[in-house]
Amino acid sequence: MYRRLRAHSGPWDMIVAGGGATGIGVAIDAASRGYDVLLLEQSDFGKGTSSRSTKLVHGGVRYLEQGNVSLVMEALKERGLLARNAPHLVRNLGFVVPNYDWWEAPFYGIGLKLYNLLAGKYGFGASRILSREETLARLPTIKPEGLRGGVIYFDGQFDDSRLLINLVATAFEQGATLLNYAPVTGLTKDSEGFVDGVRFHDAETGEEFEARARVVINATGPFADILRRQADAAVEPMIAPSQGIHLVFDRSFLAGDDAIMVPHTSDGRVMFAIPWHGHTVVGTTDTPIAEPALEPAPLAQEIAFILQTSALYLAKTPTRDDIRSVFAGIRPLVKSGEGGNTAALSRDHTIRIENSGLVTVCGGKWTTYRHMAEDCVNQAATLARLPDRPCVTGHLNIHGFHPSSEKFGRLWMYGSDAPLVEQTAENAAPLDSDLPYTAAEVLWAVREELARTVEDVLARRTRALFLNSQAALRMAPRVALLMAEELKQDAAWEAEQVRNFREIARNYLPL
Ligand SMILES: Cc1cc2nc3c(=O)[nH]c(=O)nc-3n(C[C@H](O)[C@H](O)[C@H](O)COP(=O)(O)OP(=O)(O)OC[C@H]3O[C@@H](n4cnc5c(N)ncnc54)[C@H](O)[C@@H]3O)c2cc1C
Repeated sequence: MYRRLRAHSGPWDMIVAGGGATGIGVAIDAASRGYDVLLLEQSDFGKGTSSRSTKLVHGGVRYLEQGNVSLVMEALKERGLLARNAPHLVRNLGFVVPNYDWWEAPFYGIGLKLYNLLAGKYGFGASRILSREETLARLPTIKPEGLRGGVIYFDGQFDDSRLLINLVATAFEQGATLLNYAPVTGLTKDSEGFVDGVRFHDAETGEEFEARARVVINATGPFADILRRQADAAVEPMIAPSQGIHLVFDRSFLAGDDAIMVPHTSDGRVMFAIPWHGHTVVGTTDTPIAEPALEPAPLAQEIAFILQTSALYLAKTPTRDDIRSVFAGIRPLVKSGEGGNTAALSRDHTIRIENSGLVTVCGGKWTTYRHMAEDCVNQAATLARLPDRPCVTGHLNIHGFHPSSEKFGRLWMYGSDAPLVEQTAENAAPLDSDLPYTAAEVLWAVREELARTVEDVLARRTRALFLNSQAALRMAPRVALLMAEELKQDAAWEAEQVRNFREIARNYLPL
């Protein structure tokens, strides 16, 4: 990537700051239209919110209840496009709404019929009302006392950081240059005060760079106001950051293949319990916070809330000791101007062009990243007076595309890369008895997926840290050793990597 950077002369068409779903989406969109793009991520790709979602590719049943039909329709269409363009990573999952009151079956039955109707040709399957017996058969671990039945509907599920890494590869294949560990530290301006480039450095070597662009796009998610203030110190903040956490348990808490959707928790939110990589993910919360952090920490009351709510629905009550991992993420919600409850803030995306010409794209959700990128590139290209070129991402296969990747067994999430991953190492023994990951995934991540640290491998190339933080801690020294050999690093590097990883992993332990 640095070779591509150094070989480049003259201004880029677009420079994108931020390597989450939004920024990488913009890089793919722009590069596939033929524009010349540089993307800079301060940490690892997906280090921010984009690896910390509920893992749903969905229209958002809750937004339907809020009456936001256009948002739901847009997201359902994007869900369909993503399932078509990345079938190796998006799977169709049944969600059962358990009913304990007489009015719930007709109420949710009608609402979920509408949800499916709005999807039109992008539908994932018809919803229907389930008897008590059918509900218990689908959700063998649901609390049976007082259960009347349920309603089942279908939505998408994915692995967020695996998709992101495949999107990085797609952007690269389309000609974009993308650097991780390259924080944007400042903006440059022309004689008229118009933003015309960025300053950034290589966090590994400390080398400083300046690069010019016809337009600079701020896709830094929850951190968007920092860059906006660098362009114009007087701008009002636009982000209302809100934290959400998830708890991860082993599979026994949600046996069966379906997820549970609780439409109304005591704080008026939806909650999900979802089967994911052989574990059970339960979440989420919505806690307004003052400042975004790159490594957000779950709050004790958030953990208590999820445990209490799970206990209302699961036959086997999960306790603190059952938590395998806990992870927190920050929603980059856009302020409505009135403050108050962040759960009610719009999940629509926003594109703002400042007087300085800096373009900020934020809000929205993972599911709609492609549409956000299309909108953003349309506006940025007009602003930069670039030649008009149509968006092509609606039908652009994402790296790893494979229509039936389940045939690759445990490596299904790599899609068409799976046979190559398998060949990467001879030793197929798992690095820890509680997780399936082997040396092959580690070496592949370093050689082909730009992993630079032990955390990159354990948190985002594999999902070890998110699934079982203790197992990930046990794996860290072996991963550091394998990486040091690949990257020609010494024992001091290895020790520092393990130390750094232990520090980060503390946030994923239910203290
Ligand atoms: C708890 C939770 C659950 C969610 N669940 C879902 C879900 O199930 N489905 C769904 O569709 N959506 C979901 N979302 C929403 C979705 O995850 C986000 O909308 C999306 O990930 C935001 O992506 P982003 O790229 O805008 O932000 P981020 O992923 O945070 O990316 C911003 C990036 O910018 C980088 N950056 C910051 N400053 C700089 C700088 N100066 N220079 C370079 N880089 C910089 C950061 O390091 C970061 O990587 C959820 C969100 C949360 C919080």
